[in-house]
Amino acid sequence: MKKRIGITFSRTNYAYYPAWFNEKSLEEDFEVVELSFLQPNIHLLHRCDALVLSGGVDMQPACYGGLERYPNMPEAFEPERDAFEAQAYAYAKSRSLPVLGICRGMQLVNILEGGSMLPDLGPAGNALHRKASETDKRHLVQLLPGSLLQEACGCIEGVVNSAHHQAIDPVRVGHGLRVTAWSEDGIPEALEAEDGSQKPFLLCVQWHPERMADKQENPLSYRVRQRFLESVIQQSHRRMEIVNPATEEVIASLVTDTPQTLEQKAMRLRKAQPHWASKSLEERRNILSRFRDLLTEEKEALAADLTAEVGKPLQQSRNEIEGARTRIAWMLNHAQRYLSDEVMSTNETMEERIRYEPLGLVCNISAWNYPYLVGVNVFIPALLAGNAVLYKPSEHASLTGLQIDRLLKASGIPEDVFQTAVGAGEIGEALLHLSFDGWFFTGSYRTGKHVYASVASQMAVCQCELGGKDPLYVADDVADISAVAAATADGAFYNNGQSCCAVERIYVHEKVYEAYLEAFVKEVRTWRMGDPLEEGIYLGPLARKDNLQVLEAQVADALSKGGRLLCGGKRAGGKGYYFEPTVIADADNSMWMMREESFGPIIGIQKVTDDEQAVRLMQDTDYGLTAAVYTSDNSRGERILTELDTGTGYINCCDRVSAALPWSGRKHSGFGATLSHQGLRAFTKTKGLHVRKGEG
Ligand code: NDP
Repeated sequence: MKKRIGITFSRTNYAYYPAWFNEKSLEEDFEVVELSFLQPNIHLLHRCDALVLSGGVDMQPACYGGLERYPNMPEAFEPERDAFEAQAYAYAKSRSLPVLGICRGMQLVNILEGGSMLPDLGPAGNALHRKASETDKRHLVQLLPGSLLQEACGCIEGVVNSAHHQAIDPVRVGHGLRVTAWSEDGIPEALEAEDGSQKPFLLCVQWHPERMADKQENPLSYRVRQRFLESVIQQSHRRMEIVNPATEEVIASLVTDTPQTLEQKAMRLRKAQPHWASKSLEERRNILSRFRDLLTEEKEALAADLTAEVGKPLQQSRNEIEGARTRIAWMLNHAQRYLSDEVMSTNETMEERIRYEPLGLVCNISAWNYPYLVGVNVFIPALLAGNAVLYKPSEHASLTGLQIDRLLKASGIPEDVFQTAVGAGEIGEALLHLSFDGWFFTGSYRTGKHVYASVASQMAVCQCELGGKDPLYVADDVADISAVAAATADGAFYNNGQSCCAVERIYVHEKVYEAYLEAFVKEVRTWRMGDPLEEGIYLGPLARKDNLQVLEAQVADALSKGGRLLCGGKRAGGKGYYFEPTVIADADNSMWMMREESFGPIIGIQKVTDDEQAVRLMQDTDYGLTAAVYTSDNSRGERILTELDTGTGYINCCDRVSAALPWSGRKHSGFGATLSHQGLRAFTKTKGLHVRKGEG
């Protein structure tokens, strides 16, 4: 697969950049992706292996606290471009992508790292660094011996071309950067990372290697490019391909973390956390509120990415993003109440208070089925409470995980307060060997059990939100069997049945059994399965190919034990991981599909004679996430739910989650809670404060 070089678009002289990387000798290995603030298409950076920040118009002075007016300032600035490239740079940094900054690109990197600018070089500087005509000015530069640039170019001086009237301020160079070349008037001509061996590749030059007249012979051009491309190739050895489950095409190839990069991230997070915790709750709230706004602003592009990587129909992707916004709003609105000190008793002499302090550094290992929802359950309250977060999205939802990372940073979360770990299970495994103050895992029982056992010796907080085998009972007194069948079918098949709280087993009173089956199948037959990007599609492909085999085996097992197939039962033909919606009547609890999570579009339905039998069968499970009862008599429903050992109970509804209520499992469905006041406080440790009044 060709390596992709993302180049930021410039209104001036842009064509030189793609031409430089599209030369014949390179075309077999590399291709160029235009990243344009005019579109804007920053999401394409996910598919890139490296970033080139191009030259162009001056950055607006507000970016570096500069003067409003200065000599040679342009007629207009491009604030959208400044913001776009700032996001691109932050993303590249968080993904350790090699970065090459050219002219304005070098100035941008310096500013983003906290450095400043000389707004104009003055008459003498302009005479040396730019010509009045169209062509570039040529001048000498000296290179710092031993620097990345000098070693790459193999010389200690050379002649370069330039066309700039601004420069980076030599006495205010950005944090972690060093100047590695100077022109004869002492103006910085190149930048790279201090102690570059420990950091991702970063090389910035003030000149224009892409358009030098002698670029084929001048080492300050062709060797700069060569060294940059070498780093792209080295970097791309650690990669993970993202496959669209509807088309089976590779849609992205991401650089993954390693145990070493994870360790570095964890160290940076730990260092930055106290400062984040020292900010006011209001300040943290405002930043996260901005994140919520960005979800709306970018909803369509985010939904398209989510659909492309997990196969969820587009409307369901939009619904998920909206659902995440609703949850965030609840958390933001209640943070003050539940995270502030709580006065438990007070009199003339003493006040007793509970203080809620952040845990510190939190590890969040997340699932792919609702990456926004299960993500915000953890990282929003964790950040609100003052924690730093190392977030590992599932490999199957990595693009979304990286979008979340980008949007959090864009909303103002400091770089070192939230970091994303990219990779598959082995990266999750590597996290278990690092030290954290809290572990928040969402996923399967199998992995959750392994996580819990692995981190036990750390004596830190650990919460696991795991799978379920959620039962639903339809009593004989329901008023409208068709409506109940339609609602419960949706509860079983929404998101292709890939919800932790999807209805996974249905028990129906014998008096309404046949009518229910008929209405249920009728409802299922109204749904359209197909391209998840098409409006009106209800069922897309499964997110994971390996689950197709699980579903086939569960269906075969059920049919061999007397199950009656009412529809579906097999994979759909053609490309993509599609499985037909499958309804099996006359199921019973000996069948695999009634015991272990299916996590797909299949459902077993069993006839029962009374409430007592229903309760016994519903309770006959290792799991304990949710249970639902449909009845016209709510007290009957409540009586039944009291008998069941589950974290959530539903009466005349199912497959729903509310931000106001604790979300927690029992038995193999996990322990601990997210959401509600419990979910806000889950990311804190309490301190009992005994304050004697009036004495010092
Ligand atoms: P998995 O258990 O397969 O994976 C969960 C996460 O753990 C992923 O990020 C995964 O990485 C990571 N992981 C895998 N191996 C290890 C390891 N050895 N050490 C540490 N981390 C590891 O679950 P799924 O992602 O398939 O999610 C589906 C499951 O999640 C279902 O059982 C579902 O019911 C449950 N779930 C529960 C929810 C709840 O609230 N109770 C909500 C949503 C889902 P990778 O994917 O990259 O391999």
